[in-house]
Amino acid sequence: MIYAAVDVGGMSIKCALATEDGKILVKDSFVTKQGLTCAEMAESTANFIKGLAAKAGIAESDILSLGMGIPGTVDGKKGVIVYSNNIKLEHAPIVKEMKKYLSCPIFVDNDANAAALGEAVFGAAKGLSDVVMITIGTGIGTGIIVDGKMITGKGGAGAEGGHVTIRMNGEKCSCGNRGCFEAYASATALLRQTEAMVARYPDSLLAKLWQEKGRSGIVPFDAAKAGDKAGTKVIRNYVNYVSVGLAGLVNIFRPDVVLIGGGVSNQGDYFIDKVSRRLNRIVYGAGVNPRVKVKAAELRNDAGLLGALALAVKGAHE
Ligand SMILES: [Zn+2]
Repeated sequence: MIYAAVDVGGMSIKCALATEDGKILVKDSFVTKQGLTCAEMAESTANFIKGLAAKAGIAESDILSLGMGIPGTVDGKKGVIVYSNNIKLEHAPIVKEMKKYLSCPIFVDNDANAAALGEAVFGAAKGLSDVVMITIGTGIGTGIIVDGKMITGKGGAGAEGGHVTIRMNGEKCSCGNRGCFEAYASATALLRQTEAMVARYPDSLLAKLWQEKGRSGIVPFDAAKAGDKAGTKVIRNYVNYVSVGLAGLVNIFRPDVVLIGGGVSNQGDYFIDKVSRRLNRIVYGAGVNPRVKVKAAELRNDAGLLGALALAVKGAHE
């Protein structure tokens, strides 16, 4: 059985054809122009998939279903992109448009939800039924799986853990509110926190590395690992923000595992162990209830595609 997977980003759209067990047979991506309409997106994506199939010698009729992960609020039941600030679309009937070009069933959802499903089917949470995943990037995407099912909320507007308030009247968030988890624990927030610490400790190793390497989230980690006080402070605070936001999600869902994806997760055990220790100190019933397992997500660069593939496979079997 062959499935198609589409990972929609702000600048490009990645497409793949893959098997049910997560083996990618062929993949490629194309750059999207600014202000793409829903109809244009559907036509270019469908044609690109057809091109991929032709290149791989796969008949279009052999594609059992297509899954598509999209940033923003996506109503999977209606097949509509309700709102996406990344790709500037509102109330866009993407499935209906795609159906003009492709005959297989099409399943769409939010990309962070799809990423969590992908990890549960193919990655770090394989075989587990209850998963909370955060993807740390420009913002924070959250995916929640309960009893093997994605929690998407009414109209697909739920599971936005990145916009849970962790500080009243706190930092401004990209969503327009203040004090969101995302405003403190995204990669963007880490850069801002590092910059503030550099200004406070201009003679620190942190400041020196910031000068040499430029604005990068790796800098505070490198400084902290070298024993620099300013760097250590940045990481300690950042770990605390990540853990506080996660504790709220864990207290509601108490999953089998918490997964952390995105660039920061490349810090591996150094970061994951710190979050695990802090999180397990502040969750409800700490020390009495079983410890919460925290792991780095595994699917890395293909996380978006394999999440979309999981949508396609799950959709085809329901
Ligand atoms: Zn927000």
